[in-house]
Amino acid sequence: MEEHLQTAATPGSRNDARRAREIESAQGHTRYTIGGRAHERIRYGDAREGGDPPLASCPDCGAAEGQLHVPGCDVEVCPACGGRVVSCDCPYGL
Ligand SMILES: [Zn+2]
Ligand SMILES: [Zn+2]
Repeated sequence: MEEHLQTAATPGSRNDARRAREIESAQGHTRYTIGGRAHERIRYGDAREGGDPPLASCPDCGAAEGQLHVPGCDVEVCPACGGRVVSCDCPYGL
């Protein structure tokens, strides 16, 4: 009988430092171009994507309320369709 408990987001100082840098650099990318038009990205907390009651920071990328998600975050909401950036079909461009 083996038990593998999934430990989500194990606190580790090295990880935290890397994550903090990722979040920091994500703040510079405030827009997406979707289908040829610029869309302001949705910040963590703006779409109540943190659940109810909301978590203090994004459960996936760790962005604090009011911060932009790290690119590739599962939780980030698409500004064009309201779906998830990682799974919606919007034509994201550069
Ligand atoms: Zn996030
Ligand atoms: Zn979309």
